[in-house]
Amino acid sequence: MKKIAILGSTGSIGTQTLDIVRNYSGELQVVALAAGSNVELLEKQVREFQPKVVAMWSEKAAMDLKERVSDLEVSVLAGMEGLLSVAVFPEVEVLVTAIVGMIGIRPTIEAIKAGKDIALANKETLVCAGHIIMPLAKEHNVSILPVDSEHSAIFQSLNGEPKNRINKILLTASGGPFRGKRKEELQNMQVEDALKHPNWSMGRKITIDSSTLVNKGLEVMEAKWLFGVEPEQIQVVVHPQSIIHSMVEYVDGAVIAQLGIPDMKLPIQYALFYPDRRVMNEKKLDFFELQNMTFEKPDTETFYGLKLAYEALRSGGNVPTIYNAANEKAVALFLEKKISYLQIPEMIERSMSKISKIENPGVEQILETENRVYEYIAGLV
Ligand code: NAD
Ligand code: MG
Repeated sequence: MKKIAILGSTGSIGTQTLDIVRNYSGELQVVALAAGSNVELLEKQVREFQPKVVAMWSEKAAMDLKERVSDLEVSVLAGMEGLLSVAVFPEVEVLVTAIVGMIGIRPTIEAIKAGKDIALANKETLVCAGHIIMPLAKEHNVSILPVDSEHSAIFQSLNGEPKNRINKILLTASGGPFRGKRKEELQNMQVEDALKHPNWSMGRKITIDSSTLVNKGLEVMEAKWLFGVEPEQIQVVVHPQSIIHSMVEYVDGAVIAQLGIPDMKLPIQYALFYPDRRVMNEKKLDFFELQNMTFEKPDTETFYGLKLAYEALRSGGNVPTIYNAANEKAVALFLEKKISYLQIPEMIERSMSKISKIENPGVEQILETENRVYEYIAGLV
């Protein structure tokens, strides 16, 4: 029985992880869960999966949950303390980081120190703290198993291949709902428009990030840390059908790819059972049904959030944190309808040029940078 914990169990990745646990209830057991504020859903999950410890970010929600599940033997915690307890809970073997945002950094670090393998969906953690996380994982001999579909595809395409023979990584992107649009057409895009992703159903923040190509920018940085390649070796390829989930080109010109229907359950399940593969009763790819597969260069003039990501990655230090924090804040403001769509990349760019650079930041400096960016952006709106 593999014992797992999930940070962000009520979200898109979290609930799909629980679907897999439900299918493999004889082999996977949930022992700890954490979520933000959705008390109703977390209560349901507690009753169904019977974890030993659960945490809610909001103190009020935690109190409410505690009352609702007082008939069960489960400890209910709150805040960062709760997240950390879930992350390091003694029985946990694999921690699924399905929380959104930089809030995932500290729990992930503590889980690694406690020897837990990480099934990593929370890309913001690697973007900001990859230089801390990757060496730490090596030191504690824990695996970082990618859940992001592109990175799972790359991981699968690297299986059994010599790592020093990679020419480049071809990171595929659907292009999002605004592919082909010009900047002028994006001026008046509303939250509802940006939330209409053509191929994937995901949480709100990442769906907005997909429309701006900032998600792809974050994934470029994530790939650098996961696979130890240089920014020049990561090429973004727009592939609107989302059938090829990413590819690796080797020095001899061979390209190895992973294909499948767009469904996050496959990469999640692959991370949970790695290196094994298990049956999945979902629709399979039918090549006779596939009309065509097409490929384009990303439009980095219109969607310059992607270009800024490469700049942030090349600068290093806390610059990826500035990029990520500015995006997190700007997306939150856009979702609250307080800023316009095109202000998202604008705020990233301005933050990157205003906030001072720190080389090799520790966790404290990463979190300080986040605060500084938040204050700077608050001053702009
Ligand atoms: P989501 O918004 O659907 O879910 C986020 C989860 O985190 C929820 O359970 C929420 O309650 C919880 N949460 C948020 N803030 C919290 C806090 N402070 N304390 C405790 N819990 C908190 O997000 P999602 O789409 O599932 O994405 C999660 C992560 O996975 C993101 O980093 C995203 O980039 C990454 N990811 C998602 C997908 C996808 O298909 N959804 C694909 C690839 C990568
Ligand atoms: Mg992805």
